[in-house]
Amino acid sequence: MKENIIFNVGGLSDYLKSTSINYELQTDIVEGVRKNSMALRLSPHVLQLIDWQNVTTDPIRKQFLPLLSEYLPSHPQLRIDSLSEKNSQVAPGILHRYPNKVLFLLGTSCATYCAFCTRSYLVGPNTQALTKDHLFKSSTANIDILINYLEENIHVNDIVVSGGDIAVVDIEIINLLLTKLLTIKSLKTIRLATRTLLFAPSLLLPNTPLFDTIVKHNEKFKHRNIELSIQCHFNHANEISIESQKISISLWQSGVTIRNQTVLLDGVNSTIDAQEKLIRKLIDSNIHPYYVYQMDMVDNAEHFRTNLETCIYISKNLTGMFTGFQLPKFIVDLPDGGGKRSVYEYEFYDKKYGIYGFTSPIISGDKIYYYCDPLRYLDPNIEKEWYQKRSISKLYD
Ligand SMILES: *Cc1c(COP(=O)(O)O)cnc(C)c1O
Ligand code: SF4
Repeated sequence: MKENIIFNVGGLSDYLKSTSINYELQTDIVEGVRKNSMALRLSPHVLQLIDWQNVTTDPIRKQFLPLLSEYLPSHPQLRIDSLSEKNSQVAPGILHRYPNKVLFLLGTSCATYCAFCTRSYLVGPNTQALTKDHLFKSSTANIDILINYLEENIHVNDIVVSGGDIAVVDIEIINLLLTKLLTIKSLKTIRLATRTLLFAPSLLLPNTPLFDTIVKHNEKFKHRNIELSIQCHFNHANEISIESQKISISLWQSGVTIRNQTVLLDGVNSTIDAQEKLIRKLIDSNIHPYYVYQMDMVDNAEHFRTNLETCIYISKNLTGMFTGFQLPKFIVDLPDGGGKRSVYEYEFYDKKYGIYGFTSPIISGDKIYYYCDPLRYLDPNIEKEWYQKRSISKLYD
């Protein structure tokens, strides 16, 4: 299958020539890729999901092949590691921010790279636009360190294993990790994060090594009263293919819970209708709609970001439309390491400058964390002022 994966501009150009799109658009795509902070890697499955007849508006194309003409200047508050994850790193790949849960980054590769990736500082190969932070090297030694850490911190009962995508990690490593996690008595839940259901369902269909490993370990964890679950990532109903559904339904029938996280992306899923269709299809696929994230401030991805009002508006209009537990929570993950908050929980909103203030008592008492709207939603004079002063303290001086 490897020959069908597109991982360089030459391969992409050849592919684009085989579609019906015009030369200007082909150039816009290729130049967009050169500017991307995320490496080019397109699985055959993703390519086939794109509607090349309507490629300019296609919600899947937008996520993986941003046009040069779509990019917008960064917000002055942009930080490459926008959630300050590095500050939460307690050991290689172990992020410990909340009291009872840890996030373990098992690898840094994915089957396809999303242009809006929050972990763009770390995930995938270097690009012309961004040199990645080699925060840790994935290795079995990291797993031993994780196990020691969990043994020493028995108040941690929840682990999210992410990356990168766990599905592109060697199956032996996944087996090793799950086998060792079985020995941790304090654990209550283990979540495995993957976008494979969209990118490369053939890696996770029933009877594949990955599917079998998950189901086999799920049985063992169930005996220990521990929940093993899958955390997937769909942003648009078009992404949920027949193969994706085959995986999710089979996993669910084998007793594995699957929860979905969505990122709110301008022009991709930023309408009530798009979110409603996505949620309905997730429910039909036995996937629990868990979170919808307000898009973080990510390098070279400002055009994906809506303002927070859009997120709140969509959330309000969906409330009551679904069974209560099937309605996703709308979340903003605060810059600077404030953590996840409900979008409704802000302490103040300065509409003039597009600044929201949140507190995060569990993480840092009364400290105010700021979330800033994209400048294109503000008055042009205020936008200018932002570019001149560049920081919240100077604006409020
Ligand atoms: C998101 C996240 C988690 C998991 O959070 P939930 O709200 O329980 O899904 C854990 N650790 C870190 C650092 C996170 O960013
Ligand atoms: S699958 Fe997740 S980690 Fe990988 S590029 Fe996309 S958002 Fe980033």
